[in-house]
Amino acid sequence: MIKDPATTIRVNLGDRGYDIVITSQDPAGLGPFARQRCRGTNAIVVTDQNVEQLAKGAMASLQAAGFQTTLAILPPGEAQKSLSAASELYDRLAEIQADRRTLLVAVGGGVMGDLAGFVAATFARGLPLLMVPTTLLAMVDSSVGGKVGINHPKAKNLIGSFHQPIGVWIDIGALQTLPDREFRSGLAEVVKYGVILDSELFAYLEANVSAILGRQPETVRHIVARCCRLKGDVVEQDEREETGLRALLNYGHTFAHAFETVGGYGHWLHGEAVAAGMICASRLAERRGLIPPDLTQRQENLLSLLGLPTVREPWPIDDLIGVMRHDKKNLAGKIRFVLPQRLGKVCLFDDVTEGELRTVLQI
Ligand code: NAD
Repeated sequence: MIKDPATTIRVNLGDRGYDIVITSQDPAGLGPFARQRCRGTNAIVVTDQNVEQLAKGAMASLQAAGFQTTLAILPPGEAQKSLSAASELYDRLAEIQADRRTLLVAVGGGVMGDLAGFVAATFARGLPLLMVPTTLLAMVDSSVGGKVGINHPKAKNLIGSFHQPIGVWIDIGALQTLPDREFRSGLAEVVKYGVILDSELFAYLEANVSAILGRQPETVRHIVARCCRLKGDVVEQDEREETGLRALLNYGHTFAHAFETVGGYGHWLHGEAVAAGMICASRLAERRGLIPPDLTQRQENLLSLLGLPTVREPWPIDDLIGVMRHDKKNLAGKIRFVLPQRLGKVCLFDDVTEGELRTVLQI
């Protein structure tokens, strides 16, 4: 069988620049990719129990490329983004006498990427990090851009750093075992890219719903590559979220954060909360006369077809607004919202009133 050539996307960040390779069913390709970018002899692969088989494939490929490998397998779940899990990994790194040439390979979803990335950023003042994302969310979002971190009991992602990887290896074959709900949750972030930056991507999603839900490899590769290019472009221009551009990626996220917090973490997956959050933000834009109602309708239709919620659950409005007031994305005490102006274009607003919020949160 002739394999499709891999797609390579470059994130241009000077000496911190890196390639994202998007391929399919090519576990053996990972080792040479790593070898070209890291001259060390040791690699530690960090993964969770649900992706152990994929991590073992990664290890075999790294070994064939001359790395001596160690495997650290953690339980799955958001709870691993903790100081205690980071501390366990520091212990493992100390045991193998890791130094700044030891490659840390994160195989898994956003949780493993954020945790292992945080450890890579902090151990011995920085280890080379290779991202091998295995969820759709991690492929299109968390593995690109260098944000790494763990949670504090008081807030998610409160402790962290910017630490760009030396490369991102995306094999969409990894998605074969991803549970359906997790896959659909990742699709919410894909829809988000369409609304904020790329009307053509949005139209492509509308036209290819069944191929997407059937995880048709060419379709999934196209979507993942497009999202990585879009995120890479944003990160190139605003690596450390200083100009407001990178903040646009938070479309729907202020509402989503409130839904996740008030609903209880885990009740809704992140993408599910983002889906309903985007509809609230779009309604807000509609009320301000920024967009016509049919733009909200198009998002609702697409998200529903993709099996995502578009209406929040009946959580108390006061609780939701309370969480939004304390969102760490706020600046100078003002809640910031990303609102659409047309398909493919959004802007930041910090003058949304409580009255407007109450109106769009009515269900
Ligand atoms: P996750 O890492 O918890 O993965 C979801 C579930 O799928 C887990 O149970 C995992 O074990 C399992 N899994 C992963 N790959 C699999 C596969 N191929 N087959 C079967 N099961 C598989 O969650 P996620 O949605 O990937 O990531 C969420 C995390 O990402 C959050 O902590 C969020 O804060 C973070 N995040 C970070 C950024 C960033 O820029 N750093 C951006 C967005 C989200």
